Amino acid sequence: MVMISHRLRIFKITLLAITLIGSWAAVFYFFVPLNYYEYPASDESDCLAGEWHDPWYEVCYMDFRCYSDEICDGIDQDYQAMLDDWRHVYSDGDGDFAFLNNFMTTFEDYDGSRAQFDADLWSHVGRIIPDDILDDVADFKVYRKPFSQEYAYVEPMNDAYDQWRFAMNARHPDGIDTEFYSTIIHEIFHILSLNDNQIVTIWDDGKEFCRREGGLLLNREGCVIEGTYLESFYEQFWEGGNFSDRQADYVSWYAMESVEEDAAESFTHFVLEDLIDSSEIESVRDEKIYFFRQFSDLVTMRNEIRQNIKEAHQ
Ligand SMILES: [Zn+2]
Repeated sequence: MVMISHRLRIFKITLLAITLIGSWAAVFYFFVPLNYYEYPASDESDCLAGEWHDPWYEVCYMDFRCYSDEICDGIDQDYQAMLDDWRHVYSDGDGDFAFLNNFMTTFEDYDGSRAQFDADLWSHVGRIIPDDILDDVADFKVYRKPFSQEYAYVEPMNDAYDQWRFAMNARHPDGIDTEFYSTIIHEIFHILSLNDNQIVTIWDDGKEFCRREGGLLLNREGCVIEGTYLESFYEQFWEGGNFSDRQADYVSWYAMESVEEDAAESFTHFVLEDLIDSSEIESVRDEKIYFFRQFSDLVTMRNEIRQNIKEAHQ
């Protein structure tokens, strides 16, 4: 008897809980305003992860709910803070960098055709990329995603990863400024660290290679070979899932995303900031920037990119 009444009580409590949760969900659904953003896109592949595509209206969109103006504003402020994080203030090294603003303008204000804008954008991007990397860039794509925080991306154009597409969101550049350069350098590092001499691709049985020889297995790309830039960075800072969740250990908010992004962001700081000596290391963040000094070819590449930037402004 005792057991039965006990079970009955649990049943009643459960029923009450379900009713309460259900009614709160209903209140939430009907009374919390649904917000969304959308932008024109003819194809589903133009949408980002988490966005939906509406083929009838030809838009990508995302729904989100926020209870009050305060919370909606909070989301907006977080988003702005994240963007500000991206606009790092870089040391101008030997005093030679003069970053120009409003040298170029966003597409909306551009006084010319779309094709001209794309060509103009490439002329600013291409001359910053070092020759070795430029050899691997087979395509420059300009796309338009006004509400996306994504500024640029790179992707291999073949299974061998020796030809790459460099893509840039035309809605972002609002000047040839530090954000513009840091974006290009960030993407340069992706090509540098994931190309055919760093990786056994997933198409070339990268999984099996990593199992046999060790290395860093990236499920989408393949096996990053031991001793390469990215694999060494992984061993030092991320191995065994033993990475830090303190933002102070990263050069930027975005660096916390993955080992690939952490390395690309740290490399960007390595290129744009003054070189530091081992005696000046005060944090994990500094260690990550200092890390790249051990590769003499990366020091050479750093000089080449900095030289390219200086020449672009002469
Ligand atoms: Zn990236």
